[in-house]
Amino acid sequence: MVAPPAAVVDADAVGHLPPPDEQRVSGGLWHPAYIGVGSNLDDPHAQLLRAFGKLAELADTRLILTSPLYVSQPFGPVEQPDFVNAVVGLLTQLEPLGLLAALQAIELAQGRPRQHERWGPRVVDLDLLVYGRERRADADLTLPHPGIVERNFVLYPLADIAPDLDIPGLGRVTELKGRLAPGGLRRLA
Ligand code: AMP
Repeated sequence: MVAPPAAVVDADAVGHLPPPDEQRVSGGLWHPAYIGVGSNLDDPHAQLLRAFGKLAELADTRLILTSPLYVSQPFGPVEQPDFVNAVVGLLTQLEPLGLLAALQAIELAQGRPRQHERWGPRVVDLDLLVYGRERRADADLTLPHPGIVERNFVLYPLADIAPDLDIPGLGRVTELKGRLAPGGLRRLA
């Protein structure tokens, strides 16, 4: 195994992600990114494992960290089953919009329709939570993801894999988590 040269990792933004320990390291910069994964349809537990497998196969990307799974209660006006949620940490050479497109392709491949109810049930939902030190609020992509601070099903699993991560503009994960009650959240063994 050949470790990549330190310069390929965006060191300021790395959080808890180590560099990819891998031979096929090419020129570009490796960006740390955290993805929220959720499902409450068609065997949610299996949907999450499927999504982890697809994330691990993404081009120019390494799946480095996977949180435990959590069961969370749905919010919003729609009556629906509980969710299973987790967060993963990647190192990627994809740009933010390229990574978002890859996440949407995984959602489609797992059977999520393009049009869906805002608060409705979903086969799989992949949110780009954090991408390096990137901050933007574009029509297609807001970074960090605007829902992070109010969602215990994001912050609790994120704190399991990246407690010291400083989310741009928001603060340290452990501190953000400390402000949020676990509510109906349950960690699976
Ligand atoms: P949702 O129904 O929650 O999966 O939202 C999907 C829509 O949110 C897509 O149109 C995305 O372009 C947009 N979006 C904006 N910021 C993000 C983000 N950080 N991660 C995922 N989707 C995002």
